[in-house]
Amino acid sequence: MSELVIKGGHIIDPQTGWDKPGSLYILDGRVKGLYPKNAKIPASTRAQTLDARDCWVVPGLLDMHVHLREPGREDEETIRNGGQTALMGGFSAVVCMPNTNPRIDNQEVVRFVRLQAEKTKCRVYPAGAITKGMKGEEITEMWDMVDAGVIAFTEDGNASLPSGILRNGMDYAKMTGRPILSHCEDASLIKGGLMNEGWISSKLGIPGWPRIAEEISIQRDIMLSEYLDARCTSNTFRRREAWRSSRQPRSAEPRSPARSRRTT
Ligand SMILES: [Zn+2]
Repeated sequence: MSELVIKGGHIIDPQTGWDKPGSLYILDGRVKGLYPKNAKIPASTRAQTLDARDCWVVPGLLDMHVHLREPGREDEETIRNGGQTALMGGFSAVVCMPNTNPRIDNQEVVRFVRLQAEKTKCRVYPAGAITKGMKGEEITEMWDMVDAGVIAFTEDGNASLPSGILRNGMDYAKMTGRPILSHCEDASLIKGGLMNEGWISSKLGIPGWPRIAEEISIQRDIMLSEYLDARCTSNTFRRREAWRSSRQPRSAEPRSPARSRRTT
């Protein structure tokens, strides 16, 4: 029997609504109870105590956007190593992007990732590529990849996915019940950009990266997802303005022919 008491931290537990200082009693790796500050905890004298003063105590976090370099660049990072690093930072689950080498664009690679993920206690959820080889041309075998375990589709790192290809990808992803994680950058606007576009980039003579490159892409993806009634979220919010523009109230009118049919 192993007992752990985490004391003195500020506990946040969305499930019970707990958002105040307290103590956590863990028995054999499972949370047994939350207790207010100074309350008596039913732990034995052998229990290990962890002082969490000035810390938040929260459930394991999920990082929706990580790059584990395996397969292909195990010299930089392996899935096991990336998973262990995530755990050390408080993240008990990660979604890994498919721009590895080879790409996560077929069920064999998905199975390989999941197999390697068994070497870490961090839950590793692979996202599959929208197009084969992430070349922006041919849609991947999405159903096969879903069967193998992908939880979403994305072309992360590929800022030049044509609207027609993304539309098809969104349509197929919708059929599988998986969302699209959208890489929101218009490649034609960011070409050569090395820093945020503004008076400083002009003064320094360094090619700028305009914020509309992100906003245009976000708006396009929102319009496509509304048109198809498909699930899509941005994978790459970089600027506050882009986030704000994505939150603008949208038209109440259905744009999708499919939706129109359903509502009449
Ligand atoms: Zn990325």
